[in-house]
Amino acid sequence: MSDFQPSIIVHGGAGPVKDDSLAARLDGCKVAALAGYEILRLGGSALDAAEAAVVALEDNPLFNAGTGSTLNSLGQVEMDAAIMAADGLRAGAVAALKAIKNPIKLARRVLDDGRHVLLAGEGASLFARSIDFPECDPASLIVASEKQRWDSKHGTVGCVAFDRHGQLAAATSTGGIFNKLPGRVGDSPLIGCGTYANKFGAVSCTGYGEAIMRVVMARDAVQLLQDGLDPNEAAAMALENLVELTASTAGLILIDAHGRIGFGRNTTHMPVCYVAENGVAQVAS
Ligand code: ASP
Repeated sequence: MSDFQPSIIVHGGAGPVKDDSLAARLDGCKVAALAGYEILRLGGSALDAAEAAVVALEDNPLFNAGTGSTLNSLGQVEMDAAIMAADGLRAGAVAALKAIKNPIKLARRVLDDGRHVLLAGEGASLFARSIDFPECDPASLIVASEKQRWDSKHGTVGCVAFDRHGQLAAATSTGGIFNKLPGRVGDSPLIGCGTYANKFGAVSCTGYGEAIMRVVMARDAVQLLQDGLDPNEAAAMALENLVELTASTAGLILIDAHGRIGFGRNTTHMPVCYVAENGVAQVAS
């Protein structure tokens, strides 16, 4: 084992929390961050930790990812996810996915397979079948509260992790934006837009995907780390750049090459939980 101090941060999506679910969302983030941190503490990889944390968030119906995903204009779930390791710039992503319980796990299989970076729609399902990856009934991903809601839903999830070997990884998973057109793909599975990791830093973004894509926000934030900003400064500057160019709203979490954590948002809320030096989980919203 090497001597790097591991760190991890997760987010539960940027946007207003209009109901009384903030405490439960923070709890969900804490459970996910601690699941990932345990892997890091035992010497596991940032990639495995980021995947495990996002699985925990996808399985929590409060968040707009996996079970509990928001619905498109046809009332169906279509999910996007990406995972990236700084080491070798390895990346895997899936988009417009309908019948997979944990999209981040399939994204990881795309990464491990190594032939492609992003598989979408029917092609992603065919890939899942070719590797005997279990599919689920799409109806099982729809929770009652989603059927009833007609305002926009947020709650995309993400994780960035730094392991004992000094390696970084980022992962993001989402049901996208409420009432989107079928086939719409957001920023989350697009490498450099919603998700990015290289040797200078790793980032997961959340917010209005159409704006995040246009400014290539995750890559922008990593460039700011490379330019010497600390992670919180880089988060603030990436948000400033987004606002200047698109007047839009978003949030992001990031870790730099030293394992230092940062996050920022220009929305009213973005539940986050992070664990660093002392192993104690800290939450913020
Ligand atoms: N960025 C996601 C998307 O546009 C949504 C979100 O973060 O809430 O698909």
